[in-house]
Amino acid sequence: MTAGQDDTCRIVDIDGTPVRVRGAADMDATDRAMLGEVVAAARRKHEQETPTDRAALTCPVPNCGHRKQARQYLCRGCWATLPRHARTALSRRDDKAMRRLSELLDQVRDGVPLHQVRVQP
Ligand SMILES: [Zn+2]
Repeated sequence: MTAGQDDTCRIVDIDGTPVRVRGAADMDATDRAMLGEVVAAARRKHEQETPTDRAALTCPVPNCGHRKQARQYLCRGCWATLPRHARTALSRRDDKAMRRLSELLDQVRDGVPLHQVRVQP
């Protein structure tokens, strides 16, 4: 596949936000205004859907960086790597749930391999 001129991505500054634009044609003021509206709408939608605390939705495993669901401790991939007994225990929502979670997070932070994580039953 050869990248033709029309297939080039350029960075266009829309109200201070760099936006990647595909296409070789220069944009005039009308094009910029229209694109600016699209970007602003997309940003509003994104902000509505994304809770402000993005860190809370990032898998806490170092070097993972995957997103996780709001009420899950880890991303799907890391969760699946935990030993079954740990997953079973961590799935239990009782008065020890927070202690198990902090056990998990302590080990994750200390670099314990996920398949070796152990938590209280
Ligand atoms: Zn992960």
